Amino acid sequence: MGQPKNISQNFKNPGEGAIEFAIGFVKNKTRAEALPIIKRLLQGDVHDAGDKRIKRCAYCGYYYRDQTKPNNSKTCSQFCKTDLDTLRRKKKNADKALLTSDKSLKKMEKLYVWWLDYPFWISEREMINRSWKHEKPVSSEKLAMHDAAKQRDKEFGGKRAPKR
Ligand SMILES: [Zn+2]
Repeated sequence: MGQPKNISQNFKNPGEGAIEFAIGFVKNKTRAEALPIIKRLLQGDVHDAGDKRIKRCAYCGYYYRDQTKPNNSKTCSQFCKTDLDTLRRKKKNADKALLTSDKSLKKMEKLYVWWLDYPFWISEREMINRSWKHEKPVSSEKLAMHDAAKQRDKEFGGKRAPKR
């Protein structure tokens, strides 16, 4: 192929520069004569392949002649350049939005707040969850400690009491 990769391989409406370039090849030709030339032009078969000024517009995808002095343009016209910049910005924003979507951000904030402000709450919840799963008879010694803890918590406002 050897052609520069375009952001979009689909042809859009040709930009000014591309039209100007094409007109140069079909000047003073009838429509019937011009059509095959245009077709070949789009395939890159008409122009001098060695001409470094002839490029494909990075936006509209058509060939054009670079008119800039340093021969460093990527688009055939200002319109194509503006549209290309807009497209790139949109793509960039879309990528960014994907990385920091509302969902993942909210989830992260939740985790963050949990760990920062309510670490005890988390461990208590964990404890309750575990005790539900691994309910088994406890020794009288542990039971006594458990009762003592219950008693203590009651005095401190019963904040350990599991609410279901
Ligand atoms: Zn263009």
